[in-house]
Amino acid sequence: MTALLKARGLRKTYATRRGGFMRAPTRFAAVDGVDVTLLRGRTLGILGESGCGKSTLARLVLGLAEPDAGTVNLGGAAMPRPDTPEWRKLRTRLQLVQQDAAGALDPRLPIRAQVAEPLAIHGRDQAAADAVLSSVGLNRAMGARFPHELSGGQLQRVVIARALALDPEILVLDEPVSALDVSIQAQIVNLIADLQAARGLAYLFVSHDVNVVRHVSDRIAVMYLGRVVEEAPAAAFGERARHPYTRALLSSVPVPDPAHRRAGVPRIGDPPDPSAPPGGCRFHPRCPHATDLCRAEVPPLRSLSAGHAAACHRIEEITKCA
Ligand code: SF4
Ligand code: MG
Repeated sequence: MTALLKARGLRKTYATRRGGFMRAPTRFAAVDGVDVTLLRGRTLGILGESGCGKSTLARLVLGLAEPDAGTVNLGGAAMPRPDTPEWRKLRTRLQLVQQDAAGALDPRLPIRAQVAEPLAIHGRDQAAADAVLSSVGLNRAMGARFPHELSGGQLQRVVIARALALDPEILVLDEPVSALDVSIQAQIVNLIADLQAARGLAYLFVSHDVNVVRHVSDRIAVMYLGRVVEEAPAAAFGERARHPYTRALLSSVPVPDPAHRRAGVPRIGDPPDPSAPPGGCRFHPRCPHATDLCRAEVPPLRSLSAGHAAACHRIEEITKCA
């Protein structure tokens, strides 16, 4: 199957003034050498804790941020520089769905007008707004309402409808259900899956929630402090996950107590500071298997079996072969 989008070696650094504003700024890599391949009708899930670089990766893939290194190729053509006319034209093929639906909408405009807006900007028939609203389960009467009259789940449907208005090929979904009640999450996840099947969309689905990512994805890449530490088919997740960090994430999962639902954090010490990643394997301060080699050298992402790769010096020793 040919890739709709291929990103290779993406790297993005930011300045930080750790230790106060009197200190000279240093740079850290929020995304450090990441590859992404998106296929028509398929979902690549990006799983990781907050601060792992997954939202930065989403912005790089969309062309909303320019990488320091690496390339994004869309249908065989290089992604143009942000905010050029070529970029604005290409951008209709990729759209973003964010977590904060309320913040993404204009409180002063009825929702149909907001879904019609991208159509108007690109000189397309605004009548398509009704069809796209109906495809996300919102009728004409709903289209006349204002954002404050809608529930959280309905607002997320509006944001999805607006992202679909220009008939894109790719949706980048950044924590699209994390702000919703658990009972509503399943409805929106199912809607997202139905829309993919109906339209042949490719998804980059970014989330800290292991259960949601496993449910929606065909492939899953686990990110830790800017790097992919394991990538595998969704079906190989669980029992066959092999990286110590992935295993820690999975073992922290079934948390039926709602008070802990937002956690998604391994029970292996505090989450790291993304602006000061440790050397060598970035997971070493939290890894029970760390050695001197782990502290000194970055483990490369290498293939373990067909379609399954991980970045760990000791993977053969500490996990049985799948
Ligand atoms: Fe742990 Fe070393 Fe593997 Fe990193 S490379 S995950 S520190 S065993
Ligand atoms: Mg984020």
